[in-house]
Amino acid sequence: MTDYEMLAALLFPDVATTPELLEGKYPPRTLPEGARVTRFAPSPTGFLHIGSLFTSYVDRLAAAASGGVFYLRIEDTDKKREVEDGVSGIISGLCAFGLKPDEGVTGDGKEEGLYGPYQQSARREIYRCFAKELVKKGLAYPCFCSDETLDEIRAEQEGKNVNKGYYGPWARCRHLTPQQQAAAVQEGRPFVLRLRSSGDENRRITVEDLIKGKIEMPENNMDIVLLKSDGLPTYHFAHAVDDHLMRTTHVIRGDEWIASLPVHIELFKVCGFKAPKFAHVAPLMKEDEGGKRKLSKRKDPEAAVSYFIEKGFPGDSVLEYLLTLINSNYEEWRRANPDLPRSAFPFSFRKMSPSGALFDMPKFIDVSKNIIAAMTAEEVYDKTLAWAAVYDEELHALLAKNPEYARQILRIDRGGEKPRKDIAQWSEVKAYVEYFYDELYVPDYTLPDNTAPADAAAVLKAYLEIFDAADDKEAWFARIKALCPAFGYTPNVKEYKLHPEQFKGHVGDVSTIIRLAVTSRRNTPDLHAIMRLLGGERVRQRLQNVIRYYEGNEPVRAAT
Ligand code: GLU
Repeated sequence: MTDYEMLAALLFPDVATTPELLEGKYPPRTLPEGARVTRFAPSPTGFLHIGSLFTSYVDRLAAAASGGVFYLRIEDTDKKREVEDGVSGIISGLCAFGLKPDEGVTGDGKEEGLYGPYQQSARREIYRCFAKELVKKGLAYPCFCSDETLDEIRAEQEGKNVNKGYYGPWARCRHLTPQQQAAAVQEGRPFVLRLRSSGDENRRITVEDLIKGKIEMPENNMDIVLLKSDGLPTYHFAHAVDDHLMRTTHVIRGDEWIASLPVHIELFKVCGFKAPKFAHVAPLMKEDEGGKRKLSKRKDPEAAVSYFIEKGFPGDSVLEYLLTLINSNYEEWRRANPDLPRSAFPFSFRKMSPSGALFDMPKFIDVSKNIIAAMTAEEVYDKTLAWAAVYDEELHALLAKNPEYARQILRIDRGGEKPRKDIAQWSEVKAYVEYFYDELYVPDYTLPDNTAPADAAAVLKAYLEIFDAADDKEAWFARIKALCPAFGYTPNVKEYKLHPEQFKGHVGDVSTIIRLAVTSRRNTPDLHAIMRLLGGERVRQRLQNVIRYYEGNEPVRAAT
C-alpha cells in the first residue's frame, strides 16, 4: 500500500464501492445515435426563476429534438439554501408549464430512472468513492486550514499583490506529507478535501460552447474544495461526478458558471471522465429606466414562475413566448406554420443569443392574448375554472353555478376568423364577465364628453320603447339606426365625417350610449349577443336604471 492509499483508507473507511462498480451500475445509455441527455439541477429553494424555466425549456427542446432524455436532479448539498417543500415547488412549477422531466426526482421523496439517486444528499457514498480514488492517486488531499488561516493567507497575498486563493506555494496543506496529513486526521482535526491542481494559469483551456462559441480561459490552478467538512461535495465536484455517471451529454446552465469552467474541465480530466458539451445561457433581461438589467428575484415579481401561475397566464403562453426568446427564427417559423404544435419547431443551439434576451412584458401579454384568442370557449371556461378554484373563490362559484351560461358568455366573438384579443390571463376573466353577473356588476354610467346626460336619457327612453329582445342582429341594428335622426345623430358614418359640425354624432355614438347603459363599458364584444344573453328583462331593467340616473335621480343598483 502506498502512503496515499493508506491516507485514502483512513479518510474514507465508510466507502464500500469502487469507481469500476459505479461505472458498471451506470453504464452509457442506450439511446439513438446523437440523442442528447440534458438536466435541470436546481437547489431545493422552492423558488423557480423564470430564467430557470427558460433553461429547462431549452433542456427539454434539446433532448426532445434528438430522442434523448431530460431529467431533474436536486442539488441539495448546501443545507443552508434548502427550504421545506422546496422540491415539490420546483416540480409543480415545471409541470404547470408542461415541462415535466422524463426522469429523476418526481416529488414526494420519489424518483424515476436508472441513474439515481437523483437527489445529491443521497449520493454521498458515490462522491466519497471518487474522492477516495483521487486521494489514492495523490490528486486530492485533506486541508486543515481554519477560516482564520485562510484569512491570513489572503491578507498576505493582498500585501504582496499576487493572485488570491489556495494554490501552489500558498496552499499550506498541499505541502504536508501524507503521514502528516494522516496524523492530523487521526488527531480528529476537521478538514475539507481539496483538489491537488496541476493547472498553470499561464496555459489556456479552450471550450467550444454551443451558445457562446469558443471560450478561452486560463487553466485552473486553485486547489479547490471537493468535499466540505461535512463530507458533502461542492457544486464543482458533484457536477463532474453526477453529470458523468448520469451520462449527461449537454450541460445547459446559467452563464454565471463560465467562470468555473476551468475548474470543471480539470475535474473531468483528473477523474478520468469525458467532459460533456456545454451551453451557457445568458440571463433574461428587463428594460429599466432606458437601460437593461437582469430580471431580479428581489425586485421583479415576474422573475418568479409562481407569478405567472397566480395571475393565471396559460402555460402555453409562457412557453410560446419563451420560445421566441430561445430561438431567433421561431417567430418566422410560427408565421409560416400557425397551426403546428411547438414541438414541431426545429430547435437549434446556434440560433440562441449569446447575450441576454429581453423579457418584454407587453410583448408577452400580446402573445398570451393570441394564445387565449385561439382557444375554444370550452377551453377558456375549463382553464379559468381551474385557476379560479385556487385563486378566486367568488369567480369559481359563479362559473360553476351555471357552466352553460358562462360558456355562452365566453363564446361571444370567439372562434371566428378574427377572434377578439381581450384576455391575457385568467385573473382578467372576472372583469371580462362582470356585467353578466348581477352579483359582480358595479355600474359606471360615465358618458363620453360629447354626450350630455339628458341626450343619453332621451335616446335610451326611445330605445326602451322599441327594444325587442327577440330581434336578430340585423333587426336589432336597424332599430338603433332608425333611432338616430330624431336625436340629431346620423345612421351614416360617412356623412358624419363629411360634416361633423352638423351632427351630434353617428350611430356609433348611439350604440355607445346603449352599450354603456347595459354593460357600463364603451368597448365590448358583440353587443347584440350580450343583450340576448342577458335577456330582455335584465336589459330593460338596466335601461330604466340608467335613464333614472341620467335624469338626475339616484341610480338604482343594476341588479335584477
Ligand atoms: N445547482 C446549480 C444551480 O442551481 C446548477 C447549475 C447547473 O445547472 O449545473 O445553479
